[in-house]
Amino acid sequence: MSKTAFVGLGVMGFPMAGHLQAAGHPTCVYNRTGAKAEAWTTEHGGSNAATPAAAASGAELVMLCVGNDNDVRQVALGDEGALAGMAEGSILVDHTTTSATLARELDQACRERGVGFLDAPVSGGQAGAENGVLTIMVGGDPGVFNRAEPVLDVYSKRVRLMGPAGAGQLTKMVNQICLAGLIQGLSEGLSFAMNAGLDARSVVDVISQGAAQSWQMDHRHETMIDDFYDHGFAVDWMRKDLGIALEEAQRNGSKLDVAALVDSFYAEIQAMGGNRWDTSSLMRRLPH
Ligand code: NAP
Repeated sequence: MSKTAFVGLGVMGFPMAGHLQAAGHPTCVYNRTGAKAEAWTTEHGGSNAATPAAAASGAELVMLCVGNDNDVRQVALGDEGALAGMAEGSILVDHTTTSATLARELDQACRERGVGFLDAPVSGGQAGAENGVLTIMVGGDPGVFNRAEPVLDVYSKRVRLMGPAGAGQLTKMVNQICLAGLIQGLSEGLSFAMNAGLDARSVVDVISQGAAQSWQMDHRHETMIDDFYDHGFAVDWMRKDLGIALEEAQRNGSKLDVAALVDSFYAEIQAMGGNRWDTSSLMRRLPH
């Protein structure tokens, strides 16, 4: 069993850290809002610390799952950051969805201290984290990956090394690019069905047996028809992710017409007050 630390007990981090402790890896957590760290130790055991560096001290693996690039810099670097507490030979795993540039920057900072680094964004959402069935897309060195993989297995159903540092984040960008157009397409289809006077549930029951089927269709059509978005993956996070993907696309020469358009639709949802609504709230823009 490996001594681990987990920094960031949000929707995703709280249950992920819980799986580590439950699997027998002694886990020390840090959360900016201390009450959440207290609640975590009450529920799961383990321990909590006052700074990321203190949580990371003595840990073989240190996981981060915070918000955006700057949040990761704050908890990873600096005098109280996780890296300051980590020993040579230990491994830093960043589960936050960030830019590939940040992943390469952290990889370099870790190398200078003899620490291994993996960028390891996840997909599968809150339910995936709670049920321990996330998909993890990893960038880094194969040797470091092989050491971390058995521990990452405790909250995932698939963990795959995609290439060197940054490759995990690039893979996650592909995931978000595919998702954006798909959710808009589903919203337009449901809106059209309702405006045409069809029974939208019955329509989905039929077309979900054919080529239009998707995870979003299976898991989100009911709540979209009911106009309920108080669950799932927040619009603010999706805008962050699309922003990162659009920036990377400029660098690598990709043309993301639909992703850019859907990003502007999500900006409209934010203007409607939907920052924390689920991404399926694109439906709210459409007459139905
Ligand atoms: P969340 O519920 O908003 O939690 C964010 C966590 O990060 C909280 O523990 C927060 O601490 C901490 N944090 C944020 N900024 C910080 C800073 N500057 N310094 C210290 N701590 C900071 O977010 P989440 O839904 O768990 O998502 C976390 C990451 O996973 C994001 O990058 C997101 O894009 C990605 N992700 C999320 C999902 C999903 O379905 N939710 C799915 C895949 C990937 P406080 O408690 O003090 O605010």
